[in-house]
This record gives sequence, structure tokens and C-alpha cells, in this order.
Amino acid sequence: MTIQDPNLGITNSTLDDEFLVDSLRYDSTLQEVYKLPIGAKSEPASIDLEERARLALNHLSRNLDAAREHLPYFWTHLTKNPPEARHEAYDFGDVTARYVDAMILSRQMTGSTIGEEQEVLLKRLMLSLFGNDGLSYRKSTPFSSPDAVMFDQSSVLIGLVTWLQEGSHPDIKDYLDRHVNQLWHIADKTKDLCRFPINTYTKTAGFSAGSGGMVDQDAPYFTAGRFVFPLARYLEIGGTGKAEALAVGITKWITQESKVFDIDFSFTDHMHSHTSTIIGVLKLGVVLNDDSLIAWGKSAFDWVQNSSGSSTFGWYIEDIWQNWKVGADCETCSVVDMLEMAVILSENGYPEYWDTVEKITRNHLVESQLTDIGWIEWTKKLADNSVSSFENVAIRVLGGFAGWSGPNDFVANNLVRRGNLMNCCSGAGPRGLYIAWEHAVSYVKETGVTVNLAINRSASFAEVRVSEPFEGKIEILMRVRADLWVRIPGWVQREKIVVRQNEQSVSFEQKGRFILIRDIGQGIKLDITYPISEIGSHETIGGRDYEVTWRGNTVVAINPEGKNHPLYQRAYMRSKKTPERYALFHQPNNEIRYW
Ligand SMILES: [Zn+2]
Repeated sequence: MTIQDPNLGITNSTLDDEFLVDSLRYDSTLQEVYKLPIGAKSEPASIDLEERARLALNHLSRNLDAAREHLPYFWTHLTKNPPEARHEAYDFGDVTARYVDAMILSRQMTGSTIGEEQEVLLKRLMLSLFGNDGLSYRKSTPFSSPDAVMFDQSSVLIGLVTWLQEGSHPDIKDYLDRHVNQLWHIADKTKDLCRFPINTYTKTAGFSAGSGGMVDQDAPYFTAGRFVFPLARYLEIGGTGKAEALAVGITKWITQESKVFDIDFSFTDHMHSHTSTIIGVLKLGVVLNDDSLIAWGKSAFDWVQNSSGSSTFGWYIEDIWQNWKVGADCETCSVVDMLEMAVILSENGYPEYWDTVEKITRNHLVESQLTDIGWIEWTKKLADNSVSSFENVAIRVLGGFAGWSGPNDFVANNLVRRGNLMNCCSGAGPRGLYIAWEHAVSYVKETGVTVNLAINRSASFAEVRVSEPFEGKIEILMRVRADLWVRIPGWVQREKIVVRQNEQSVSFEQKGRFILIRDIGQGIKLDITYPISEIGSHETIGGRDYEVTWRGNTVVAINPEGKNHPLYQRAYMRSKKTPERYALFHQPNNEIRYW
């Protein structure tokens, strides 16, 4: 389907993102999602993270239950007819707080008004779940008990820190400090460590009721490992209370006492709770300037990236104990953790990891977003009940992210999990979009403008237009007078880089992974070009063999092809001429720093 109306997005029918506009045929209310702001102009049809964030807002604001104070649905069963949105205990602190985080960040990226009303209601619900002791409690429902579950508390921390940065509510710091202080209070603090050996805490019996007082086998990574990352972010913006003591105490438990990570940093079990634990240690190392924690985090990251049976393009195996032959799957939550860790490493002494950031972003992060609902059947009708909704579910989850994707299938070839979305992932995916978008470019007065990622972006200090994967070309319009640093991808033959201004060659210096062009005036436009061509690689992913075709850091084909709503349908990306499309990139007044 080709849309020629310049106010309605894509004008080139060969694009992957055609799916976005094609979805209009299902529901006219989606026009709000696709309508481009006034002033949209023709741009290189490279990856557009902002359009994807607008689509994410469709999911985040519609996968909610108005009969339960806009509680999100954790499950979506896409391959049932009709598809079913189903509640589950994680809907409360975990998914609600992730959605708040995702909505704030998606709005920052886009300036969109989609779902503003629902964002207010979700924030209200999130605050209503806090008990007088400062913890976030689930409610008593047919699908949940009124407990404070530690895994939920970590997502609540993530949501509160982002909300504090956004600054729309005067009491968020109080909520955050009460929450942190109560976590400190209930931790087992013997021998100078902070332990949370049990996941479930109740108002009446504390930790003793959960697991019958037994230590949970998946502590600490499932109970408190995820606390450290948001605590470290809080410290970075001036966090008070017991935030540092709690983060340090849990980190000692993880790295010094627990045997969760083996001597070679290998581990088994659930990937996301491990990666979200590793990112906390890494981040705390950066915040406290502790090289040993950074080295620990880097080693654990490297094990996941290189030795866990995962891909090089952002697909990470979800369950390491699983028999890979039955069809391994990947949670977007882990994709985002790994993306964020690669950013932290890139910005703290390991710039070679920018290529990993770019590979994850250009490939499995965006492929994991549900942008096409044409394959979902909803010819039958069912009435909603107190646990499930069947009303327009496919349209409501459009823009969500895969709970269990295969390396080249939206729905993994796993008989148990096939067809399910876990919407923890739909809350995590937009954070991944934001992190890549935010870190793509930066400006510091002392050092100048830096372009870290070859991704379209318009910032107040520079505009970046990228022609990859079609052509090796980055156009940069300077909006300030400054030195310009541009990271050149690791696969580029560096002697073939050419920089031009008005067709005239411009001299530059090679500085490690970057090139430096000194003292560029405001309003000057530079073109940086380099050859790009296809190369093939062989990967064993989740125990299966795949032939992967790349143009630069972009996967353009995977063989054998997927079977269950296949991903990487990117034949159009093998063109050597860059198509154009209509877009307008948003410039927020103040960016939330998310790192
Ligand atoms: Zn998830």
C-alpha cells in the first residue's frame, strides 16, 4: 500500500515501515499515530526511531483495562481467535511502572500527545499502589495476592527515577526516598551486605510468608539484582536516603557472596533478570568510579554477547537452561538491557562497543516491535470478563514489543510460548528506542559535537541524516560552531572515508574510532561518505545455524527464513539508492539524560 499524502507518512511503497501506514486500514483512530507534524519534509528513509516511539504510545495507552483503573494486561495471546489480553500478577508494580517509564520517554522523543490522558491515569494507578511503608503492593484479585514482590519494586524504582527526571509531580522524590528507605529497612544486612533472599514480602508476615520462609533459588538476580541500576541512576542525579548503601550492599552480595555468576561469568536460568543485574553493577561502577565493578560488568556483558548462544545482531536467548532444539526465544527486556550496557561501555573507555549498540538498534530492537497486525486473526467475537479482554486486541497492542521472538520470527518456534506477548517487553522496548536516540548525538562545549550512531536525528546543535544501509553516507548540518567528532563504524575501510563541504574535500584527523573535523561554523553542512557492500556471516543462534547477510551494521536477510510472522523482510534494503520519506524529527526543550 502506498500513501501519497505528505501528511500521512511514507511515500515509498518499498519500505519496511510501509507496515506502519498499512495498519491504518484496520482502524481510523490510528491516523493520530501516523499523522506527521506540520513541517515534515523528505528525509533519507533510514531508521526512524521517533516514528516507532509514536507507535509505542499507541500500545502503551491502549493495552489497559478501564474497569481496573487502567491496569495494563501482562499477556497478549496473539494466535488465538480472537486474540486475548489477559491479566496477571505482574500487571501491578512491574508493568505499570515500566509503562510510565516508557510513556515519559516516548513523549520526550516525539512531543506526541497520543495517550496523554492514559499516562495521567497510569501514573495515578502507580502511586495508588504504594503502601504506608513505602513499598508497592499488588492488589487482591483473581490473578494476584496483595503482596510486595521484590521484582516489582525494581521496576517501580525505574519508573520513579525517570518520573523524577521528567519533573511533572512535586512528590516523586518523597515516594522514591520512602521506597528506598523501606527496602533498606527490610534487607538482611548481616556481614555488611544487603540481601533479599525471598521475592515475596507481605504486610503482616514480612518475608517469612513468601516461599514458606525458604530462600528463593533465583535470588539475588530475581529478587534484588534489578534494584542496583535505578539506584545508581538515582545517585547520579543526587539521590539521597539509603540509595548508595543499598546499591553497594546488594552489589557486594551479587559479586562477592552469591554464586549466581560463575568464575567465567557464565550463568543459567532467566536472561533478563541476569542482564538487568549486570547493568546495575556496571552502572554503579561508573557512578562510584570503581574500576573493579566496571571490569566485572564488562566481563559479564561479554559472556552474554559471545558465549550464551545468542546472536551478534541483538537477539539474546531467554532461558539458558532450555533445550535450544525446541525453539529458543528472546525477550525484548534483555535486548534493551544489552543495548544500554553497550552504551555505558562505549561512553566509559570502550568505544568499540558503539558497533554493538548500532547492531542491536538497527536490527533486533526495531524488528521486535509489532508493526504489522495483518497476520493476526480476529474473525470471532468473545465478551470481556474480569481477567481477559477480547475487544480490538490486535489494534490495541500494535506498537508493542515481542515477548518471545525467534531469531527471525516475531513469534518464536516454541510450542509452549508460541503466540504470546509478555508486555513487560512492551514497556522495555521504548526505553531501548530512547537510549539509542538520546545517545546518537551529543554536544559538550569543551569538546564539541559528537555523532556516536549513524541514526537520523535532529538536535538543537546538529542535524544528522543517514543513508545507511543503502549508501555509506552521513550528512551533518551544524547548528553551533564547534569541533565535530563522528564515529566511523568498525567495518568501514578508513582510508576510503571522504569528507566534503559543497563538493569540496575537507581535511580531517583520524582519532581512534572517530574522525575529527575542527572548528566547523554554524550552518555548515558536511557530507561524510564511505563504501558499503554486502557481506555474509554464519551464526549458530540458540543451537541453530543461520546465514546472515549484512550491509554495514544492518542485517538485510537471514536464511533460512522465519515461519511465524517472519522478521528481517528487508529485501528493499539491498537497493544501492537511498529512498526518501516524509518525516519531522522532534527537538525537546530539555532531554532526560538516560544512561
Ligand atoms: Zn520482557
